[in-house]
Amino acid sequence: MTVLTVNTPVFFPLTRKALQYAWNQLAGRIKIKDKLEVLIYYGHEENLDRNLDKPLIWIKPCTKETFENILYLVENSLTFQNVAHFLPDAGSHLIDQDMPALFWSSGAEDGKKPFLVKGSNRIIFNVDILAATFFMLSRWEEVVLKTRDNHNRFPAHESTAYKQGFLDRPVIDEYSVILRECLKILRPRWAPEPSGFRLKISHDIDSMSMYSGLISLLLRTAGDIVKRFKPRMALKTLQDGMRGFQDFKYNPYIKNIKWLADVSLENRIISSFNFMMSKKSKYDPEYELSKTKEIINYLQALRFEIGFHPGYYTFNNDTLFLMEKERMDQVLGRTNYGGRQHYLRFEVPMTWRLWERASLIYDSTLGYPEQEGFRCGTCYPYQPFDVLEQRIINIYECPLIVMDSTLANYKHINTIEAEKIILDLAKRCACVGGVFTMLWHNTSLCVKNHPYREMYRKLLPLLQKF
Ligand SMILES: [Zn+2]
Repeated sequence: MTVLTVNTPVFFPLTRKALQYAWNQLAGRIKIKDKLEVLIYYGHEENLDRNLDKPLIWIKPCTKETFENILYLVENSLTFQNVAHFLPDAGSHLIDQDMPALFWSSGAEDGKKPFLVKGSNRIIFNVDILAATFFMLSRWEEVVLKTRDNHNRFPAHESTAYKQGFLDRPVIDEYSVILRECLKILRPRWAPEPSGFRLKISHDIDSMSMYSGLISLLLRTAGDIVKRFKPRMALKTLQDGMRGFQDFKYNPYIKNIKWLADVSLENRIISSFNFMMSKKSKYDPEYELSKTKEIINYLQALRFEIGFHPGYYTFNNDTLFLMEKERMDQVLGRTNYGGRQHYLRFEVPMTWRLWERASLIYDSTLGYPEQEGFRCGTCYPYQPFDVLEQRIINIYECPLIVMDSTLANYKHINTIEAEKIILDLAKRCACVGGVFTMLWHNTSLCVKNHPYREMYRKLLPLLQKF
């Protein structure tokens, strides 16, 4: 990968390691693999070699004050620039909305200079895209800001992306698109590999029993009576995929799991189903190992991905986290898989460390429960950076872009609006060649006659067309 030359004093948390991490993230998104013969320079003019004849991308650094002050800016005070103004011949068709400049470089703080300037053989960024990349991906603001909601979660409205109006944009991926177009100008013969859009549909199995034991028993008994009087019909329903598994017939939440699997199969999507291994609590469902195993076997036979859904109290409790993880290991017969935290409870960087310590492959928690969009400024799976220990965390984060309950329960949005929001977000992911991660539960929104159920079925083929 092309080396980043840093020639400026650095500050915490934007250290040399952090800058190199940010550059690798941007370069990785546009698949810079071989030597491009372009100097990537991060520093001030006085330290730049004047006799340089190599093509140059020069990113001017922001100051420590600019970096830290972003947390306390007045709402909607960030400058946005039209991409067509600074990159007219390329890139503007990929990004149809104005680009936010998170950190203006030192000397350009008034926001009046162009985002970038093209000279002969060099392109100069007046916006510190490395600081922005580090800022968004590391979730540094979640470490610094202490406000939490009633479930101890970092709230969307505290985030810079929300306050400055770019939560609906994969801003870091868009920066990488701009960078790619710049490199193509400097190196016209460079043909970067296109990165394809991917769909990641996941289901957190929050509950498997809509009815209490008594009602469930009554339903089963009624079912048995029906079978006795209509033996032929009963035999047919048994053959219809029940495989002797009564709950697929009588328990609505388990029926929904099968329904979600069926819709995925119809669309040839390998979705993932995340299962809980917690003990019952106010926020965790009844834990039933044998039932869970049976459903997992059913889904695995159909080649679906099975993931881990750690319980409500695990996100900052390593003993509990590892205990539940061990149960999951035993059920799956292996130790490495992905998943998502229940209630999206997540503390940066602690929860990432738990996932790393447990040898898990990826977490997909980081979206906001109350607001859809790009919490990490990206839709690319990426390795997070631990701001406190100043190191890369050895797992992947696959940011969650939207879930059913955000739109239906938090925002009370009807299906027409919801469908538009989902398709718009997916389009943004497609434009940057990323991954559109959507969460659909097996619970209330999925029950028969709920309008969101029909919308979901209608959406999947549309999402595949991007
Ligand atoms: Zn959950």
